[in-house]
Amino acid sequence: MVRYIFREFKTAINKLKFPDSWFWARYTSNPYSGCQHACIYCDARSNRYYLTQNFEEEIIIKKNFAKVLEKSIKNSRSLLPDVIGPGGVCDAYQPIEKKEKNTRKLLKVIEKYEFPVNLATKSDLVVRDLDLFKKIATDTSAAIGFSITTMDNKIARFVEPYSSSPQERIEALRTIKEEAPEIQVGTYFMPIIPFLEDANEQLENVVKKSKLAGADFILFAPGLTLRDSQKEFFVRKLRKSKYSNIVKPLLNLYSPGSYKTELKEYVAKYNLKLYNLCKKFGINIRVKRWLPSDYRKWNYKIAELLLNEEYTNSILGNPNKTMKWAGLYLNNLEESIINYFKRGELSKLKNFTPEIIEFIHPYLKKGEKERDKKTLDRYL
Ligand code: SF4
Repeated sequence: MVRYIFREFKTAINKLKFPDSWFWARYTSNPYSGCQHACIYCDARSNRYYLTQNFEEEIIIKKNFAKVLEKSIKNSRSLLPDVIGPGGVCDAYQPIEKKEKNTRKLLKVIEKYEFPVNLATKSDLVVRDLDLFKKIATDTSAAIGFSITTMDNKIARFVEPYSSSPQERIEALRTIKEEAPEIQVGTYFMPIIPFLEDANEQLENVVKKSKLAGADFILFAPGLTLRDSQKEFFVRKLRKSKYSNIVKPLLNLYSPGSYKTELKEYVAKYNLKLYNLCKKFGINIRVKRWLPSDYRKWNYKIAELLLNEEYTNSILGNPNKTMKWAGLYLNNLEESIINYFKRGELSKLKNFTPEIIEFIHPYLKKGEKERDKKTLDRYL
């Protein structure tokens, strides 16, 4: 039995230290606390999110959410337009959204202030708001990712009991691509539960169905985090189910005290499998980044280049943490990298080794002509 609680909150937007290189989100914004979808693996059950209520049975609806958000954006000088990832912790399109429309109101604010958006959901209700996503995509950029962990309905009903079925999510993806090709749409294939969702045909099924529906991208992450109370809940559910036989091999993938699927061979093997599958079906493994038209433009372009390169190399077995940090820090540079380039001072930037400078040099050179044009080129 779900109980809905209305509560005032002082904040409606949170600025991240670094934009993440998966969704490119600089801000998070959660219209609800708790999630009625009740996925048994949900990370939001862990203590790090400080959700004190019964996660799936007490849903907190944030009162005046859009007004608080608008006030923050209007009054703050540090909230520059950048990608907002609504519902990163609790699904923004869970059932109560149909009535309360907190997420729809949030999108209206985003659209009014010309912020780009990248939204992940397990619900086909998102299609209701295509009109707003289209406007945002035209003004800046909009990406919608359907979180899909399996195409097997029986497994999905067990691990994600109250979300739209995988097939419904795929159909929603298709609808979006057909009706609004300007919106980037794809699949967030994560988590992938070892021994339950990782058989070859299961992996291929998700990639193939996504591609056939028109997905622009698939972001994949084999394994899952298992932390404190989230781990307890998940393992208890598994033990009581017909899938109890996977508990032992699954836990063997974690070192004592670690919350990540650590067995490097496992993660490396499945990352490579998924990389090759996406290649086979001709589908991007990264989301195209929105680029601002101010001094951050080239910083973001080059950061995207570095982070994507490092990501692909790490999947192929050559991780490079220095390149990763160079990309992350570049996002926060308060002056254009072009000025550093022109002054011959790229080596002054954090983590910019001679190898990294050599790697980005041709891109900065190639872009010289383009930079002289007064265009708002959103994608390279
Ligand atoms: S839909 Fe997302 S937020 Fe909601 S329970 Fe599932 S994993 Fe958690």
